[in-house]
Amino acid sequence: MPKQEYDPAHLNVRIVLVAPQGARNLGAIARVMKNFDLSELWLVAPECSPEDEEARHMAVHAADVLEGARIVPTLSQAVADCTRVVGTTARIRTVGDPPLSPAEGARWLGAGEGTAAYVFGPEDRGLSNEELAYCQRTVQIPTGAAYSSLNLAQAVGICAYALFLDSEPPPPVTYSEPMPETEALEGFYAHLERALLEIGYLQPHTAQRKLEKFRRLFNRANLTAQEVALLRGVLRQIGWASTQNRDRQLPLTPDT
Ligand code: SAH
Repeated sequence: MPKQEYDPAHLNVRIVLVAPQGARNLGAIARVMKNFDLSELWLVAPECSPEDEEARHMAVHAADVLEGARIVPTLSQAVADCTRVVGTTARIRTVGDPPLSPAEGARWLGAGEGTAAYVFGPEDRGLSNEELAYCQRTVQIPTGAAYSSLNLAQAVGICAYALFLDSEPPPPVTYSEPMPETEALEGFYAHLERALLEIGYLQPHTAQRKLEKFRRLFNRANLTAQEVALLRGVLRQIGWASTQNRDRQLPLTPDT
């Protein structure tokens, strides 16, 4: 039965599949997306084609979702213009914040402006840590302990259903200022890495682990676009001050 008094206009969530392998899964995902009013499907370096006969067969009346699928080579391109990115994982990870349930994930995704992305991993390996680094939140579908890994299309179905249930208009103002797009956030992280290497806080061989900790910190902070600009101003000044010190051959101390 269609849900009543439902306004999908605000529900601007794209489904992103990283390196999907099964054409039948693609078709089943297109179908369940349409069931729950989602239409934007992005495929990152897919290993199967949305034009495959099996995909079309499984999609039944959702061929339009398959036909509209965008194909891009990298996850970074699929989420560049998104203001919120949620990754999904079957495994409990030992690092980072505890994952959200699909209902909590839906609430978080629905609470901001702009486009959001719900990212799913390949059937055999799931999302890598590098891919999860693009995500400000993770969602784990609770399962029995014996087998936590769902079929990809079923995982998308459960998350899409939770989005659909939660798709009442969000409270008037959750974030009072615009959120940064992923491209801006990634620019900030790259700048942070350069600046911290420059001043010797990071060493090339341990930089990655430290940067992951910074990512977790900033992800928790829900930075606004203005705050990202503010932090980049600080980084620019650090870069400038460290060049000055180097030119003057002075040690970098607070009173120089
Ligand atoms: N062996 C992989 C399983 C990949 S299943 C692993 O352990 O991670 C393919 C994709 O389906 C996952 O990347 C995720 O996007 C989704 N998925 C499967 N089970 C899930 C669960 N319990 N919670 C959230 N997403 C799940």
